[in-house]
Amino acid sequence: MVQPTEAVYLKDASLRTLKTEIISYQPISSLSEEEKFLAKNVSPEDLAITMCQTILYPQGGGQPSDTGSIAPADEAPTFTVSLVRKTQDGRIYHFGKPSTGSIFTAGQSVIQKVDDVKRDYHSRLHTGGHIVGLAMQLLMPEMKKVKANHFPGEACMEYEGLLYNEHKPQIQAKVDELVEQDLPILLSWVEDASDLEDVEGRGKERDGPVRVASIGGLDKNPCGGTHVSRTSLVGTITIRKISRNKGVSRVSYEVSPKI
Ligand SMILES: [Zn+2]
Repeated sequence: MVQPTEAVYLKDASLRTLKTEIISYQPISSLSEEEKFLAKNVSPEDLAITMCQTILYPQGGGQPSDTGSIAPADEAPTFTVSLVRKTQDGRIYHFGKPSTGSIFTAGQSVIQKVDDVKRDYHSRLHTGGHIVGLAMQLLMPEMKKVKANHFPGEACMEYEGLLYNEHKPQIQAKVDELVEQDLPILLSWVEDASDLEDVEGRGKERDGPVRVASIGGLDKNPCGGTHVSRTSLVGTITIRKISRNKGVSRVSYEVSPKI
């Protein structure tokens, strides 16, 4: 029977270390084809670890994977995590490299650590996407969101319909206002999210409660990503450009890597 990984980052994104237990430790070459596909961007010589719980965010919902480390309890880290991915059945793989000679075994107690700087930047970029989304909802409620990307260097929100450069100052001003207002990012769980748009890292395998993110109660988005707690903590958001392709408009934005 498959044991899904408990996604602790969904309940508390502020945790940066966690003690948990190893479930499996194996070479990528021994994984199924579907699982190997998840690891296609890491070296085939790397190893794959699953644990009972994780605080490391797996790539998804337009947000990149966390990086971090795993250490045998009370020892220095001996495994560097370069990529975290979630399977369809809810297991979360941590791909990376062990230091020479280190071996993990099922049931072993370990300490996870998240790389802080990267997590903070990803959380600000992702929350920035929510703010751009709310600005668009307030300014142009008729435009339907079709896609979101919160990767560094390519962050954008996409909408059905046409936007032009003259919309840029208007969107920038609304985004600045929402950051200035220092609104809280509210997270809640709902049993039935069928009335909400399906976006942002909500695994297709999920039947249970769905987490909903809202900026100050002004919007509602099913979302499995990591956020900062208030809009001001994102810092300055720059609307970089507005582009169009086949009837879809893209609002590209960025936030400063450091606040
Ligand atoms: Zn989110």
